[in-house]
Amino acid sequence: MYDFAVVGIGPAGARFARRAAERGYDVVAFEQGELGKPLACSGHVSLDVWEYVPDEAREELFQNEIRGARFHLGGADSEAYPFYKDEAISNAVDRVQLDKVLADAARDAGADVREQHTVTEVAEFNDRVELTVRGPEETFDVTAKMVAGSDGPRSRVRDALALPEPDEFLHGALAFDPEPDHENFVDVHLTVPEFFAWRIPRGEGGVEYGLAAAPGEDVPALFDALVEDYGVEIEHRCSGVIPIGPPDTVTSTRGFLLGDAAGQTKPFTGGGILYGMTAADCAAREIDPDRPTTLTAYENAWRDELGRDIQLGHLVRKGYSAPQPLQRAGMRLFEGEIGVHMDQPTSLFSAEQLRALLR
Ligand SMILES: Cc1cc2nc3c(=O)[nH]c(=O)nc-3n(C[C@H](O)[C@H](O)[C@H](O)COP(=O)(O)OP(=O)(O)OC[C@H]3O[C@@H](n4cnc5c(N)ncnc54)[C@H](O)[C@@H]3O)c2cc1C
Repeated sequence: MYDFAVVGIGPAGARFARRAAERGYDVVAFEQGELGKPLACSGHVSLDVWEYVPDEAREELFQNEIRGARFHLGGADSEAYPFYKDEAISNAVDRVQLDKVLADAARDAGADVREQHTVTEVAEFNDRVELTVRGPEETFDVTAKMVAGSDGPRSRVRDALALPEPDEFLHGALAFDPEPDHENFVDVHLTVPEFFAWRIPRGEGGVEYGLAAAPGEDVPALFDALVEDYGVEIEHRCSGVIPIGPPDTVTSTRGFLLGDAAGQTKPFTGGGILYGMTAADCAAREIDPDRPTTLTAYENAWRDELGRDIQLGHLVRKGYSAPQPLQRAGMRLFEGEIGVHMDQPTSLFSAEQLRALLR
């Protein structure tokens, strides 16, 4: 019997598999398709990402350095309100390759990582979990002491464990103009109901255009309008779901959720790569597969680590729906140099942000 069976090898599952294996646990991890594919993510991340990947992978992952964002209340030609640092704030990284690098790190740590394996059923008992897995050649059963559901926003494990869904699912879409662009600013357009549209220069990777919107909005039409406004030809159109939450609980008797499955995302950007990996570290540190009561320690630990920033992130997002005169006044008040960390809205109240405001 394995100690942990991990379902889904995105950033959260790969990170958990690696850390649990490093602690000496017997870990098997299943990914239904090819690692990192299909792409449905911008891979725009704070510099903290480099703490999670081996040093030698940096060169293959790095695409562009971002030092600021120009906020717009209208389209491509509308007035811009710049927010910036005189150093890098974030990086655009090769998102498909990121998953591969993180999975390789899990393999190197001793986890049994299997691509092209779909977990079709999960049954939870008092002393174990049983998984049915469809592989390329056969369907088989796996028994483990615990299951980690890191299978993304539409988590099958979450349903099997009868755990609640995140409150909301945004629909995101993105596509690329292949023309290289090494500029250091992203553009953010508060033109989409309850969220925003973006333009991210990705160095030799071209320029990404994207947006996310609340359920019920016509995302393809909004996306067409964005691209038309910029007057660009795009390719590799893709889309995905962004869970906004989190739900009240992400643990059961012998199972727990990680990453998007657990709604561990930033409500004001939809970003979940670093929150998912942070929570994965909490899980690997706190959960002992022989002591199910330690699941509560995981639940407390990740909420301690991320809860305040998620709460404040909800408030920041409310600003996207504020009346335009109020948005304009807010932009004028805060535009210029900033001292905030892009994953931590609580850093709005940091000494660094205060110093930046005074400058
Ligand atoms: C348009 C868009 C743009 C985004 N941009 C950013 C960004 O710039 N920065 C950022 O931080 N976040 C961004 N995100 C969010 C980010 O993609 C997610 O938060 C992140 O991928 C979550 O990681 P995860 O490991 O929890 O889940 P995922 O990355 O979704 O991985 C889950 C994995 O589970 C696998 N799986 C599912 N079911 C099964 C099964 N039954 N058996 C086996 N495997 C299974 C899937 O194939 C998948 O590989 C964006 C999301 C969208 C939609």
